[in-house]
Amino acid sequence: MPDIARVLTDIALDRTFDYEIPPEMRDRIQLGHRVRVPFGGRECWGFVIAFPEVAGHSRLKPVSALHSDTPLIPSTLVQLASWMATYYLCPLEKAMTGILPESVRNTDSSFKTLIYAHLENLPDAVQMQALRKKAPKQAEALETLTTTGPLPVTDLVARGIPRQALQALTRKGWVSLQDQTVEREPESSGLFAESAPTTLTDEQVVALDRVMAEMSKPEPAPVLLHGVTGSGKTEVYLRAIGDALARGKSAIVLVPEISLTPQSVDRFRSRFSRLAGGIAVLHSNLSAGERHDQWHKIRAGTSRLVIGARSAVFAPVQNLGIIVVDEEHEPGYKQQDAPRYHARDVAVVRGRMEHAAVLLGSATPSLETWHNAKSGKYGLTSLTCRVDSQQMPTLFVVDMRREKQGPGGAVISRKLHEAVLQRLEKGEQTILFINRRGFASSLLCTACGHTVTCQHCSVPLTYHRTGQRMACHLCGHTEPAPTKCPACGDPKIRFGSAGTQKVELTISKLFPKASLARVDSDTMSKKGAYTGMLSAFKTGKIDILVGTQMIAKGLHFPNVTLVGVIHADLALGLPDFRASERVFQLLVQVAGRAGRGGIRGEVIVQSYSPGHPAIQYARRHDYHGFVEEELGFRQHYAYPPSLRCVLFTVRARSEEKAEFSARHLEGLLRQAAGAVAEIGAAAPAPIEKMQDWHRWQVFAKTSSMTRFGALARPVLLEARWPEGVWVAADVDPVSLM
Ligand code: ADP
Ligand code: ZN
Repeated sequence: MPDIARVLTDIALDRTFDYEIPPEMRDRIQLGHRVRVPFGGRECWGFVIAFPEVAGHSRLKPVSALHSDTPLIPSTLVQLASWMATYYLCPLEKAMTGILPESVRNTDSSFKTLIYAHLENLPDAVQMQALRKKAPKQAEALETLTTTGPLPVTDLVARGIPRQALQALTRKGWVSLQDQTVEREPESSGLFAESAPTTLTDEQVVALDRVMAEMSKPEPAPVLLHGVTGSGKTEVYLRAIGDALARGKSAIVLVPEISLTPQSVDRFRSRFSRLAGGIAVLHSNLSAGERHDQWHKIRAGTSRLVIGARSAVFAPVQNLGIIVVDEEHEPGYKQQDAPRYHARDVAVVRGRMEHAAVLLGSATPSLETWHNAKSGKYGLTSLTCRVDSQQMPTLFVVDMRREKQGPGGAVISRKLHEAVLQRLEKGEQTILFINRRGFASSLLCTACGHTVTCQHCSVPLTYHRTGQRMACHLCGHTEPAPTKCPACGDPKIRFGSAGTQKVELTISKLFPKASLARVDSDTMSKKGAYTGMLSAFKTGKIDILVGTQMIAKGLHFPNVTLVGVIHADLALGLPDFRASERVFQLLVQVAGRAGRGGIRGEVIVQSYSPGHPAIQYARRHDYHGFVEEELGFRQHYAYPPSLRCVLFTVRARSEEKAEFSARHLEGLLRQAAGAVAEIGAAAPAPIEKMQDWHRWQVFAKTSSMTRFGALARPVLLEARWPEGVWVAADVDPVSLM
């Protein structure tokens, strides 16, 4: 039995304190328990997050009280936080605050609760007689409750029964006062109802059997469901979840970004609309109160199915049966602030801890997951055909270097122009995809080569037509667009490659009669704008949709027969070993939006490097060919998945401080962990300056994250840095910028 509790208090979130556990509490106290503890002359609430053998400091004060008999946070989640702290090289308190929503931690926001008076026992006739004489209000309360059933105390008070009378009844054990919650329900869009298909395809049957077999094992292994777009992966998720729920278990579904996937959420909602307790949907637009209520509804076991973005992996469900990670390759699963966890990987670890099945689905699995499946660590099952044997869309690559400029200028090739025209004539719909919002990438002086960059971040500013301004997409800085080059004064300052606004403008000039909508984070910032636009598109009110990756994900519109990719190689120039993988994934995803009805879809990809493997393999829908070649490249240059990597970023307001500290860090890491990792030389980050912070990096590669972590973590947590220097570690980073 533990005798020391390590507590994360509500008032000091950046460190923990140890307390002595009084003997009478020792057999009851558990990880995750909410406890009252003395703190600097007063008392406060906190969570038990560990039972250390040895206290971190002397003269321990005792825990004063337990909040309730059961821990507020399930003990397994506290263990998961411990794992995160170790693996992601962060303090335990950071990991804990990462798994608990602010509104659950923060005692101020709580359920909208009402205190209800419940009748516990009725006094016998003699007692009742006496009560009517001595305390008529108490008798009246009992009589009211007998006829009405439990009532909120406020209602009873309104009926003229004083609180004191109720308290007296409680003391006698006749009435109990209980908190009952009035729940705030987040609204649903309810746009896309659907019914269940009656028969599964043969491949779906095999895939589902594979997952169910895993679910019945005492130690299920994760399963990768590799299925081409439109092959019916979601149907497999739905059935596997149905099975888990039928066994009385709970399920968690992770989706990359919930506001962008209203269609998938609605499919889950309509399929399980009769599930008792309903589905808990966790998304970033929830108010603190709604988030709090959802959390407690899940904790209490009322909601057994949870859908949400990455943090939903921490949903406090009981008796977890399965976690589904849809589009497991999406970079959005990585949290960019500490704790910098990857929700897919946390799902795998949580599944192992709680003996739950984990189903990872994608048309283009990440190389990490593919590697795990190939090496036998994960199970693998595939859906190779589209449902109803629909053909994959044809993919045509236009070489923009050889494109003679037609009416669409350098933005829309003649081939794409013609294809859009045909669709308009036939009344079919088109999606045009460009991975950059704004008008053009940057302003480039054709005389001296100067580009206009942000003064706070070392990246080019993007030209926005609205208001003729230049905007930084990192820090939000804007300034008026110059009419001549700020460096040499030449008026021949020109736009670089196009953004969404430029594509929109070009299209509206080419097809003045077509109805057109643009989807990017600039046009979709208003709540409801996205779902509104989707339903307009679905009902055919929009002919052409122009957008960023917001429209690349999971959308299903049968009447879309053409998808155009304006500038496919935009990302290939980034200093990131995953650039090629990202372009391949994106092209396959975008292509998956075409031809989902009866007609075969067409995809036109405009590119300045048409021979690039990412583009060529995507053209042939050849995932296996792509991963084979790409894995060879990763192995050769010792990148993940053949090794693990950690990116350390040092930032400071002064460049010298950043550089000095990064070099110092490099030395410390080499000294502590050089034997188990290859520590790169400190170097300026690809984005050297961001929001006025100078940034330097140290990149480490290791074949054993466990061993490297054990040696590097103390360095990070204990090193003292000069004033104003911040050091962050990113384990398995998805962005190297
Ligand atoms: P994916 O998630 O692999 O892109 P979906 O699960 O969205 O594919 O399936 C594509 C479409 O096919 C959906 O409209 C879905 O309802 C339908 N579908 C899935 N499985 C079947 C089936 N066995 N029979 C008929 N239609 C199906
Ligand atoms: Zn900036």
